[in-house]
Amino acid sequence: MDVLADPTLLKQHCQTWRTQGLTIALVPTMGFLHAGHLSLLDHARSVADRLVLSIFVNPTQFGPNEDLDRYPRDLPRDLELAAAHGVDLAFAPEADAMYHPDHATWVDVPELGAGLCGASRPGHFRGVCTVVTKLFGLVRPDLAVFGQKDWQQLAIIRRMARDLELGVEIVGRPIFREPDGLAMSSRNVYLTPEEREEAPAIRQGLALVQEAVRSGELDVTRLGLMFRSHLAEKLSGSRVDYAAFVHPEALSPKACVDAPTLLAVAVFLSRVRLIDNILLEV
Ligand code: AMP
Repeated sequence: MDVLADPTLLKQHCQTWRTQGLTIALVPTMGFLHAGHLSLLDHARSVADRLVLSIFVNPTQFGPNEDLDRYPRDLPRDLELAAAHGVDLAFAPEADAMYHPDHATWVDVPELGAGLCGASRPGHFRGVCTVVTKLFGLVRPDLAVFGQKDWQQLAIIRRMARDLELGVEIVGRPIFREPDGLAMSSRNVYLTPEEREEAPAIRQGLALVQEAVRSGELDVTRLGLMFRSHLAEKLSGSRVDYAAFVHPEALSPKACVDAPTLLAVAVFLSRVRLIDNILLEV
Protein backbone atom coordinates (compact mmCIF):
# COMPACT_ATOMS: atom_id res chain seq x y z
CA MET A 1 0.00 0.00 0.00
CA ASP A 2 1.28 3.46 -0.88
CA VAL A 3 0.82 6.30 1.58
CA LEU A 4 0.86 9.84 0.21
CA ALA A 5 0.40 13.26 1.74
CA ASP A 6 1.09 15.30 -1.38
CA PRO A 7 -1.94 16.01 -3.62
CA THR A 8 0.26 16.31 -6.73
CA LEU A 9 1.71 12.84 -6.20
CA LEU A 10 -1.78 11.46 -5.62
CA LYS A 11 -2.91 12.95 -8.91
CA GLN A 12 0.06 11.47 -10.79
CA HIS A 13 -0.44 8.06 -9.23
CA CYS A 14 -4.12 7.92 -10.20
CA GLN A 15 -3.37 9.26 -13.68
CA THR A 16 -0.96 6.35 -14.24
CA TRP A 17 -3.64 3.87 -13.23
CA ARG A 18 -6.13 5.46 -15.60
CA THR A 19 -3.73 5.28 -18.53
CA GLN A 20 -3.39 1.56 -17.74
CA GLY A 21 -7.17 1.25 -18.07
CA LEU A 22 -7.70 0.46 -14.38
CA THR A 23 -10.88 1.55 -12.61
CA ILE A 24 -10.53 3.50 -9.37
CA ALA A 25 -12.78 3.60 -6.30
CA LEU A 26 -12.45 6.34 -3.68
CA VAL A 27 -13.58 6.15 -0.05
CA PRO A 28 -13.30 9.57 1.60
CA THR A 29 -13.06 9.56 5.42
CA MET A 30 -11.85 11.61 8.35
CA GLY A 31 -9.98 8.59 9.70
CA PHE A 32 -10.11 6.94 13.13
CA LEU A 33 -11.46 4.01 11.18
CA HIS A 34 -14.13 1.69 12.55
CA ALA A 35 -16.02 -1.25 11.09
CA GLY A 36 -18.42 1.10 9.28
CA HIS A 37 -15.56 2.63 7.29
CA LEU A 38 -14.14 -0.85 6.69
CA SER A 39 -17.46 -2.03 5.24
CA LEU A 40 -17.18 0.79 2.68
CA LEU A 41 -13.61 -0.22 1.85
CA ASP A 42 -14.58 -3.89 1.45
CA HIS A 43 -17.38 -2.97 -0.93
CA ALA A 44 -15.20 -0.60 -2.94
CA ARG A 45 -12.44 -3.23 -3.08
CA SER A 46 -14.86 -5.69 -4.66
CA VAL A 47 -16.00 -3.37 -7.47
CA ALA A 48 -12.88 -1.54 -8.71
CA ASP A 49 -9.33 -2.38 -9.79
CA ARG A 50 -7.70 0.17 -7.50
CA LEU A 51 -8.85 1.46 -4.12
CA VAL A 52 -7.98 4.89 -2.73
CA LEU A 53 -8.75 5.81 0.88
CA SER A 54 -8.52 9.44 1.93
CA ILE A 55 -8.02 10.34 5.56
CA PHE A 56 -8.48 14.03 6.10
CA VAL A 57 -10.07 15.91 8.98
CA ASN A 58 -11.28 18.70 6.76
CA PRO A 59 -11.21 22.01 8.66
CA THR A 60 -13.68 23.77 6.35
CA GLN A 61 -16.55 21.50 7.38
CA PHE A 62 -16.19 22.28 11.10
CA GLY A 63 -17.85 25.27 12.71
CA PRO A 64 -15.87 27.57 15.06
CA ASN A 65 -17.27 25.86 18.17
CA GLU A 66 -17.08 22.31 16.92
CA ASP A 67 -14.65 19.48 17.65
CA LEU A 68 -11.99 20.01 14.93
CA ASP A 69 -9.12 20.14 17.44
CA ARG A 70 -10.23 17.19 19.50
CA TYR A 71 -11.53 15.03 16.63
CA PRO A 72 -10.04 11.56 17.31
CA ARG A 73 -7.01 10.65 15.20
CA ASP A 74 -4.82 7.54 14.93
CA LEU A 75 -3.06 7.45 11.57
CA PRO A 76 -0.74 4.45 12.23
CA ARG A 77 -3.71 2.30 13.21
CA ASP A 78 -5.77 3.56 10.26
CA LEU A 79 -2.98 2.63 7.85
CA GLU A 80 -2.72 -0.87 9.30
CA LEU A 81 -6.46 -1.39 8.89
CA ALA A 82 -6.40 0.10 5.40
CA ALA A 83 -3.63 -2.27 4.28
CA ALA A 84 -5.50 -5.23 5.75
CA HIS A 85 -8.61 -4.24 3.77
CA GLY A 86 -6.90 -4.05 0.40
CA VAL A 87 -6.38 -0.30 0.06
CA ASP A 88 -3.86 0.44 -2.72
CA LEU A 89 -3.27 4.06 -1.84
CA ALA A 90 -3.95 5.92 1.40
CA PHE A 91 -3.97 9.69 1.04
CA ALA A 92 -3.50 11.59 4.30
CA PRO A 93 -2.68 15.23 3.58
CA GLU A 94 -2.15 18.15 5.96
CA ALA A 95 -4.73 20.92 5.77
CA ASP A 96 -2.33 23.42 4.20
CA ALA A 97 -1.56 20.96 1.40
CA MET A 98 -5.25 20.73 0.57
CA TYR A 99 -6.08 24.44 0.70
CA HIS A 100 -4.07 27.20 -0.93
CA PRO A 101 -3.70 30.22 1.37
CA ASP A 102 -5.91 32.15 -1.06
CA HIS A 103 -8.45 29.36 -1.63
CA ALA A 104 -11.57 31.12 -2.85
CA THR A 105 -13.87 28.58 -4.48
CA TRP A 106 -16.74 26.81 -2.76
CA VAL A 107 -19.21 24.16 -3.83
CA ASP A 108 -22.59 24.33 -2.15
CA VAL A 109 -25.97 22.65 -2.54
CA PRO A 110 -28.02 24.97 -0.32
CA GLU A 111 -31.38 23.48 -1.22
CA LEU A 112 -30.40 20.16 0.33
CA GLY A 113 -27.86 21.43 2.84
CA ALA A 114 -29.83 24.06 4.74
CA GLY A 115 -32.01 21.75 6.84
CA LEU A 116 -31.36 18.80 9.16
CA CYS A 117 -27.64 18.80 10.10
CA GLY A 118 -27.10 21.95 8.03
CA ALA A 119 -29.42 23.91 10.32
CA SER A 120 -27.27 23.34 13.39
CA ARG A 121 -23.98 23.18 11.45
CA PRO A 122 -24.02 26.19 9.10
CA GLY A 123 -21.40 25.86 6.36
CA HIS A 124 -20.79 22.20 7.13
CA PHE A 125 -22.01 20.81 3.81
CA ARG A 126 -20.31 23.56 1.86
CA GLY A 127 -17.04 22.36 3.41
CA VAL A 128 -17.91 18.73 2.66
CA CYS A 129 -18.89 19.42 -0.97
CA THR A 130 -15.78 21.50 -1.56
CA VAL A 131 -13.35 18.93 -0.19
CA VAL A 132 -15.11 16.03 -1.92
CA THR A 133 -14.98 17.93 -5.23
CA LYS A 134 -11.26 18.50 -4.70
CA LEU A 135 -10.73 14.80 -3.94
CA PHE A 136 -12.71 13.88 -7.06
CA GLY A 137 -10.51 16.27 -9.07
CA LEU A 138 -7.31 14.71 -7.71
CA VAL A 139 -8.32 11.05 -7.94
CA ARG A 140 -10.88 11.24 -10.77
CA PRO A 141 -12.44 8.02 -9.46
CA ASP A 142 -14.92 5.90 -11.39
CA LEU A 143 -16.91 5.53 -8.22
CA ALA A 144 -16.92 6.89 -4.69
CA VAL A 145 -18.46 5.10 -1.73
CA PHE A 146 -20.28 6.85 1.14
CA GLY A 147 -22.24 5.59 4.15
CA GLN A 148 -25.99 5.97 4.55
CA LYS A 149 -25.36 6.91 8.16
CA ASP A 150 -24.72 10.41 6.82
CA TRP A 151 -27.80 10.24 4.61
CA GLN A 152 -28.02 13.97 4.04
CA GLN A 153 -24.37 14.09 3.01
CA LEU A 154 -24.92 11.22 0.58
CA ALA A 155 -28.00 12.89 -0.95
CA ILE A 156 -26.09 16.16 -1.34
CA ILE A 157 -23.06 14.53 -2.94
CA ARG A 158 -25.27 12.58 -5.34
CA ARG A 159 -26.97 15.80 -6.39
CA MET A 160 -23.68 17.66 -6.68
CA ALA A 161 -22.11 14.91 -8.83
CA ARG A 162 -25.16 14.87 -11.06
CA ASP A 163 -25.58 18.64 -11.37
CA LEU A 164 -21.89 19.28 -12.06
CA GLU A 165 -21.44 16.25 -14.36
CA LEU A 166 -18.53 15.06 -12.24
CA GLY A 167 -18.52 11.66 -13.94
CA VAL A 168 -18.30 9.74 -10.66
CA GLU A 169 -20.76 7.04 -9.68
CA ILE A 170 -21.87 7.71 -6.10
CA VAL A 171 -22.50 4.52 -4.15
CA GLY A 172 -24.33 4.50 -0.80
CA ARG A 173 -23.81 1.67 1.68
CA PRO A 174 -25.92 0.61 4.70
CA ILE A 175 -25.30 1.80 8.24
CA PHE A 176 -22.92 -0.49 10.09
CA ARG A 177 -23.95 -0.93 13.73
CA GLU A 178 -22.53 -2.13 17.03
CA PRO A 179 -24.08 -5.42 18.20
CA ASP A 180 -26.45 -3.42 20.45
CA GLY A 181 -27.67 -1.31 17.53
CA LEU A 182 -25.71 1.92 18.03
CA ALA A 183 -24.57 3.25 14.65
CA MET A 184 -20.78 3.12 14.50
CA SER A 185 -19.16 6.53 14.59
CA SER A 186 -15.68 7.86 15.30
CA ARG A 187 -17.40 10.18 17.81
CA ASN A 188 -18.73 7.28 19.91
CA VAL A 189 -15.40 7.36 21.80
CA TYR A 190 -16.50 10.66 23.34
CA LEU A 191 -19.39 8.95 25.18
CA THR A 192 -19.15 8.26 28.91
CA PRO A 193 -19.72 4.59 29.84
CA GLU A 194 -23.26 5.47 30.99
CA GLU A 195 -24.07 7.34 27.79
CA ARG A 196 -22.62 4.50 25.72
CA GLU A 197 -24.84 2.04 27.52
CA GLU A 198 -27.98 4.09 26.90
CA ALA A 199 -27.13 5.29 23.36
CA PRO A 200 -28.74 2.28 21.57
CA ALA A 201 -32.06 3.90 22.60
CA ILE A 202 -31.67 6.06 19.48
CA ARG A 203 -31.83 3.05 17.19
CA GLN A 204 -34.63 1.54 19.31
CA GLY A 205 -36.62 4.75 18.90
CA LEU A 206 -36.24 4.55 15.12
CA ALA A 207 -37.34 0.90 15.16
CA LEU A 208 -40.37 1.80 17.31
CA VAL A 209 -41.45 4.35 14.73
CA GLN A 210 -40.98 1.82 11.92
CA GLU A 211 -43.21 -0.63 13.83
CA ALA A 212 -45.87 2.03 14.34
CA VAL A 213 -45.81 2.83 10.62
CA ARG A 214 -46.26 -0.85 9.82
CA SER A 215 -49.27 -0.88 12.14
CA GLY A 216 -50.84 1.99 10.21
CA GLU A 217 -49.73 5.17 12.03
CA LEU A 218 -48.65 7.50 9.22
CA ASP A 219 -48.92 10.93 10.87
CA VAL A 220 -45.45 12.38 11.36
CA THR A 221 -46.43 14.57 14.32
CA ARG A 222 -47.56 11.57 16.33
CA LEU A 223 -44.62 9.47 15.10
CA GLY A 224 -42.18 12.22 16.01
CA LEU A 225 -43.65 12.48 19.52
CA MET A 226 -43.29 8.73 19.87
CA PHE A 227 -39.56 8.98 19.08
CA ARG A 228 -39.03 11.93 21.39
CA SER A 229 -40.84 10.38 24.35
CA HIS A 230 -38.92 7.13 23.88
CA LEU A 231 -35.64 9.06 24.12
CA ALA A 232 -36.81 11.14 27.08
CA GLU A 233 -37.57 7.91 28.91
CA LYS A 234 -34.57 5.78 27.87
CA LEU A 235 -31.77 8.27 27.30
CA SER A 236 -31.51 10.47 30.36
CA GLY A 237 -29.97 13.87 29.72
CA SER A 238 -30.29 13.62 25.95
CA ARG A 239 -31.59 16.45 23.79
CA VAL A 240 -33.08 15.86 20.38
CA ASP A 241 -31.48 18.32 17.93
CA TYR A 242 -33.94 17.22 15.26
CA ALA A 243 -36.14 14.26 14.38
CA ALA A 244 -37.32 14.95 10.85
CA PHE A 245 -39.48 13.05 8.39
CA VAL A 246 -38.31 13.91 4.91
CA HIS A 247 -38.37 12.81 1.29
CA PRO A 248 -35.33 10.52 0.92
CA GLU A 249 -33.85 12.39 -2.05
CA ALA A 250 -35.29 15.91 -1.94
CA LEU A 251 -34.95 15.98 1.88
CA SER A 252 -38.12 18.09 1.97
CA PRO A 253 -40.39 17.73 5.03
CA LYS A 254 -43.27 15.28 4.84
CA ALA A 255 -46.54 15.40 6.74
CA CYS A 256 -47.46 11.81 6.20
CA VAL A 257 -45.53 8.57 5.65
CA ASP A 258 -47.42 7.75 2.46
CA ALA A 259 -44.35 6.56 0.55
CA PRO A 260 -40.81 5.63 1.61
CA THR A 261 -39.85 8.39 4.04
CA LEU A 262 -36.57 9.04 5.77
CA LEU A 263 -36.66 9.58 9.52
CA ALA A 264 -33.37 11.34 10.24
CA VAL A 265 -32.37 12.23 13.79
CA ALA A 266 -29.58 14.01 15.61
CA VAL A 267 -29.33 13.68 19.37
CA PHE A 268 -27.07 15.43 21.84
CA LEU A 269 -25.70 13.41 24.74
CA SER A 270 -24.04 16.12 26.81
CA ARG A 271 -21.58 17.59 24.22
CA VAL A 272 -21.63 14.65 21.82
CA ARG A 273 -23.95 14.84 18.86
CA LEU A 274 -24.94 11.51 17.33
CA ILE A 275 -26.89 11.01 14.11
CA ASP A 276 -28.88 8.07 12.84
CA ASN A 277 -31.70 7.42 10.39
CA ILE A 278 -34.11 4.86 9.03
CA LEU A 279 -35.88 4.62 5.71
CA LEU A 280 -39.49 4.00 6.73
CA GLU A 281 -41.29 1.56 4.51
CA VAL A 282 -45.08 1.73 4.44
P1 AMP B 1 -16.37 10.05 8.46
O1 AMP B 1 -14.98 9.54 8.69
O2 AMP B 1 -17.20 10.07 9.70
O3 AMP B 1 -16.39 11.32 7.67
O4 AMP B 1 -17.07 8.98 7.54
C1 AMP B 1 -16.50 8.59 6.31
C2 AMP B 1 -17.51 7.76 5.56
O5 AMP B 1 -17.86 6.63 6.33
C3 AMP B 1 -18.81 8.51 5.27
O6 AMP B 1 -19.27 8.17 3.97
C4 AMP B 1 -19.73 7.97 6.33
O7 AMP B 1 -21.10 8.01 5.96
C5 AMP B 1 -19.25 6.54 6.43
N1 AMP B 1 -19.65 5.96 7.71
C6 AMP B 1 -19.43 6.48 8.94
N2 AMP B 1 -20.00 5.69 9.88
C7 AMP B 1 -20.60 4.67 9.22
C8 AMP B 1 -21.35 3.53 9.62
N3 AMP B 1 -21.63 3.29 10.91
N4 AMP B 1 -21.81 2.68 8.67
C9 AMP B 1 -21.54 2.92 7.35
N5 AMP B 1 -20.83 3.98 6.92
C10 AMP B 1 -20.36 4.84 7.83
